[in-house]
Amino acid sequence: MRSTGRLRRYVRAAVLIVPAVAVAAGVMTSAAASDSSVTSTVAQQAVTPADQFLGVSCPADRFCMGVGWYIPADGVKRPLAETWDGSAWHITFPLAPSPAPASVLQTVSCTSRTACLAVGGVLTLLDGVMAGRLRNGFALVRPPGHHAEPERAMGFCLFNNVAIGAAYLRARYHLERILVVDWDVHHGNGTQHAFARDPGVLYVSTHRYPFYPGTGALDEVGDADGAGYTVNIPFPGGVGDAEYLEAFHTVIEPIALQYAPQLVLISAGFDPHRRDPLGGMRVTEAGFAAMARSLIDVAERVAAGRCVAVLEGGYDLNAIRNSAAVVLDELSGAGGPLPPPPAPSCARPILDAVRAAQRHFWKFV
Ligand SMILES: [Zn+2]
Repeated sequence: MRSTGRLRRYVRAAVLIVPAVAVAAGVMTSAAASDSSVTSTVAQQAVTPADQFLGVSCPADRFCMGVGWYIPADGVKRPLAETWDGSAWHITFPLAPSPAPASVLQTVSCTSRTACLAVGGVLTLLDGVMAGRLRNGFALVRPPGHHAEPERAMGFCLFNNVAIGAAYLRARYHLERILVVDWDVHHGNGTQHAFARDPGVLYVSTHRYPFYPGTGALDEVGDADGAGYTVNIPFPGGVGDAEYLEAFHTVIEPIALQYAPQLVLISAGFDPHRRDPLGGMRVTEAGFAAMARSLIDVAERVAAGRCVAVLEGGYDLNAIRNSAAVVLDELSGAGGPLPPPPAPSCARPILDAVRAAQRHFWKFV
């Protein structure tokens, strides 16, 4: 077993702050109401009639993690500035159309409590699965985590929920092979970096590239003992179910079965959804269901069914709701027949390049 000192500190801290979480049929939600109400109040007071702030008032994004951009009166989308001062997360946005003088900039601060609840929810779910009380589950938590680096918050992510979860499984349950599949439209730089040298965690990501955060090239395959245990599948914008499912069936499943993980973690971002305003992809609910079924099948074949999904990004509430529902159906065994993968797929050249980058480490048919 290998685990970095930084991640051990993460796990210790997270264990100390494991909160009360809502538990229902293997589903975890972080209890975010108290912090988010403060945040929402401040944010709503700051909204002027001329500005449209997206995500501030939506229940799933009350922690402001969905507020990555705003549209002022001129209709041009602009990013929000975000900073982390070590104890609180600050979003700065102008109250007047940009460029705004500093005197009319508004800063919203969020405590780290909600982020602690999210980590605690994931670890509590993992405990339930490892104890055999649950076969699988979905941690419906916010803020997301996969951009958070071991030493700093990043990209709406304060603590890397999935990376901490994987380190926790290594440290507490002595698992030697954990598969993390990250289908969020953004590359999970934080998760990749946490385990780049660790063969005990295989990190696989499908993501738009080049795109935020800039990492995730197909030749990033891990370092030292971890070489071959990072698999990046970088897609151009605009791809959908056909391309994603070809990647799952011809690259991810073969690698996953060779690795034979003891538990499968899913970084389940729903921003590749066709309705998402940021992602620019075209995945549908049927696509997410098929991706989930693929990974659940892997877990059933080699990991005693142990499969835990954790919510990452996603900026359209209907897309998140409907997609999370079909993934829950798959986890509970209630999913119906899946439609055949749509054709044609334009992923072949990309997947050929991924296989070429990984052929030294894995076998492909
Ligand atoms: Zn994302």
